Amino acid sequence: MDPRLIEMLVCPLCKGPLTLLRGDELALACRADRLAFPIRDGIPLMLENEAKPWDPEAASAPVPLAPAE
Ligand SMILES: [Zn+2]
Repeated sequence: MDPRLIEMLVCPLCKGPLTLLRGDELALACRADRLAFPIRDGIPLMLENEAKPWDPEAASAPVPLAPAE
């Protein structure tokens, strides 16, 4: 998936930045809402009812899209 495309995406709930998760399946996670939006067939499903609960503290090796400031 094109990283530039991911950078253009924001959380549909809080409009905040998303973190790309590389687990068994790709997902885009919002730290503020603690939700992970699945990516299926390369298409991010940016819908609240498709999102799964995500715990930033327990997440394994999240990949930040931008350096923390
Ligand atoms: Zn959010």
